[in-house]
Amino acid sequence: MKNGTGLVVGVDLGGTKMHAAAVDEHGRVLGEARCKTLPDEGAGAVIERIAKIVRDAVKASSHPLADVQAVCVGVPGGVDAHTGIVDRAPNLGWEHVPLGPELSAALGGVRVFLDNDVRVAVLGEFAYGVGRGAQTMVGVFVGTGIGGGVVVGGRLHLGARGAAGEIGHMCLDPSGPRCPCGRIGCAEALASRTSIERDVRALVKRGRKSKVLKLMAKENRPRLTSSVIARALADGDKVMRKVMARAQFHLGLLVGNLVNALDPEVVVIGGGIAERLGEDFVTPIRAGARERFLVERDADHVRIVPTQLKDQAAPLGAAFVARQRLGLVHARTTDAPKSAP
Ligand SMILES: [Zn+2]
Repeated sequence: MKNGTGLVVGVDLGGTKMHAAAVDEHGRVLGEARCKTLPDEGAGAVIERIAKIVRDAVKASSHPLADVQAVCVGVPGGVDAHTGIVDRAPNLGWEHVPLGPELSAALGGVRVFLDNDVRVAVLGEFAYGVGRGAQTMVGVFVGTGIGGGVVVGGRLHLGARGAAGEIGHMCLDPSGPRCPCGRIGCAEALASRTSIERDVRALVKRGRKSKVLKLMAKENRPRLTSSVIARALADGDKVMRKVMARAQFHLGLLVGNLVNALDPEVVVIGGGIAERLGEDFVTPIRAGARERFLVERDADHVRIVPTQLKDQAAPLGAAFVARQRLGLVHARTTDAPKSAP
């Protein structure tokens, strides 16, 4: 490959599975590899598996490892981008793990960058998905929790201390349920997959009939999955429909608040449920959000859309971050919209 335009590898490191994509300078995925994370086997074993899927993805791209300019890993937790150390990743049981240096060593010295998994997914949609051509975008990722990110002026908004974008902990109901963060009524406590499961179980306990628990048992997975949600909705399960409508109502509030605060061009709804249900998931959220809009014309100007890249958002975004850190891409400052009247 020509110098300065080479291959980068983006990795999405999740608590249950990991996914690597070898990406060229146009954002094309040339090769991919996936495997289970198995965090119980310890950080060393996980890092070895990351190295393996990076090699496998590069192999699938028909390039030698020597063509890889950098690897970037999206980590489910906090990272120190300068030292390459994962400060804390609860889903992996990690604290102070030197992922960057160790992965680099395992890959023969390839440069390794780290970033947060949700942030890279937002950047993936921004650079290569629904956000292409936009300057201002909000990403809302609904999964076990609710994560997000805000792109302003073509750049991820990090805030004064790098802590911006925690939109899952925006309070939507001060008398609502407790959130894993310890506070009351956060969006995450009202509309994440975890809270959907909690509400389904509560209704079943109160005697409402639902197939959801049976579907869960059939899948033999400990937690409610997006596939069970989709199946139950398709079967017309009343409990699932009721609980989902409530989650969508709260997501509509969240998106409406975000639009009023940030005036974005695009709001992308991602995560497992959005990947599976797509427009069906987003339609009620969009309708709810629009009721909150203060500026009438926003209804036609703000695109509220499901993820386009689906499970490639995070690896593609990680690849984009790698290219940014290498100085191969710059913020899109040249085509900024004219200031509002
Ligand atoms: Zn919270």
